Amino acid sequence: MDQGVRQTVSSEGACGILGIDLGALRDNYLLLCSQAAPVPVAAVVKADAYGLHAGRVAPMLYDAGCRTFFVAHFSEALKLRPLLAQDTRIFVLNGLQPGNETTCADAGIIPVLNGLEQVANWSRLAKLRNRTLPAALQADTGMSRLGLAPDELTQIAADATLLDGIRLELIMSHLACADEPDHAANAGQLSVMRTVAAQFPGVALCFANSGGIFLGKDYHGDLARTGIALYGGAVVSGVANPMKPVVTLDIAVVQVRTVPAGIAVGYGGTYVTTGETRIATIAGGYADGLPRALSDRGALYYNGVRLPIVGRVSMDSISIDVTALPPGTLTLGSMVEMIGPNQTLEDIAAAAGTISYEILTSLGQRYHRAYKA
Ligand SMILES: *Cc1c(COP(=O)(O)O)cnc(C)c1O
Repeated sequence: MDQGVRQTVSSEGACGILGIDLGALRDNYLLLCSQAAPVPVAAVVKADAYGLHAGRVAPMLYDAGCRTFFVAHFSEALKLRPLLAQDTRIFVLNGLQPGNETTCADAGIIPVLNGLEQVANWSRLAKLRNRTLPAALQADTGMSRLGLAPDELTQIAADATLLDGIRLELIMSHLACADEPDHAANAGQLSVMRTVAAQFPGVALCFANSGGIFLGKDYHGDLARTGIALYGGAVVSGVANPMKPVVTLDIAVVQVRTVPAGIAVGYGGTYVTTGETRIATIAGGYADGLPRALSDRGALYYNGVRLPIVGRVSMDSISIDVTALPPGTLTLGSMVEMIGPNQTLEDIAAAAGTISYEILTSLGQRYHRAYKA
């Protein structure tokens, strides 16, 4: 860690540095585009671009050629809309709560309609305004989470009045097991999707998420939409991750102490030293998105040396055993690696018993976010 970056941390009082490599993110987008080609790739920038800041990520992806964006909540779309040129589409995956239709139409945001009630609400507004309003229709092809049931879509296809005033931009669905290429659910969902899409000829099909792109052409439809792979997460479990790492996380040391054998460390005294031990306390905890599940099991790194987490993860700090480093190596203000060359995002997620998505979206606001172009 160079001196310049350390000074940035101390001047802002941040607890660590979350490095975000926008160049790598761009390369990931282009890799996904080549994997999906000739089908275009949309960017999923919900949850503030998986915690990396949609205001930085989305305009950069626009420059890389991306013209379609997805967020989860309408509030996210309202924030993003002014940051993107008019030749972009922003879809709201969760659709609209009743009463949000007018604002949505005025802002030029496109809802994903997940149920007959949302369809009716959107159509009513279009008729009231005597104009056409764009929308996506989502089918539930087997995940039982969001979307219209196949028989509801058949009903819509058979009765054109239900879509009065609505211009369908997409017919879409979401894969439940795309990260497991051998899972039988993938082919099952694809087959339902094909039956549904056939009832809406001429409407673009949007099906594959990050994992779906790697399931092959059958899954690509007319538009892919990717999230985690853009941000460097693994797309397929059990296979080498083809994406470039986007995120590094280094956390500042706030104290180093040497204790004798038999000393308890942290809340609950779950760890007791077995010999003389040098312990560093670092300035990040579960309030910074470092899971409490890493208590007594995770590790950080310094110069390639593994430094095990000892005791429980606290809200704002973690204790690590730094005995493996020569005395004096770590001092107040030293930075240790949580995510970086020695430990990937996936490694941390696995150690905590969770997934990269949850780690990224939990990282919190107390880090200095250092963007690299
Ligand atoms: C979050 C989400 C995505 C993005 O999935 P990734 O696995 O991150 O690529 C795509 N579609 C829907 C409906 C989602 O909820």
